[in-house]
Amino acid sequence: MARCCKCGKQKETPFVFRTDEPLCKDCAAKYELCTKCSRYFEYENMNGSYCTACDMLSED
Ligand SMILES: [Zn+2]
Ligand SMILES: [Zn+2]
Repeated sequence: MARCCKCGKQKETPFVFRTDEPLCKDCAAKYELCTKCSRYFEYENMNGSYCTACDMLSED
C-alpha cells in the first residue's frame, strides 16, 4: 500500500505515473499507458501507444 500521487489515498497502487510516483487503479484509468516504459501519462504527452520520450527513442 502506498499513497496515490493523484488522489492522495492510501491504497493499492499497482501503477506508476510519469513522475515515478505510485498511481492507483482508479486514477490510472484517467491516463494513457505507455507500453514501452509502462508509466501513465496525460493524453497530451502521448504519441500513439508510446509517450513522447519513448516515441523519440524508437524513431526509425
Ligand atoms: Zn488515485
Ligand atoms: Zn514511455
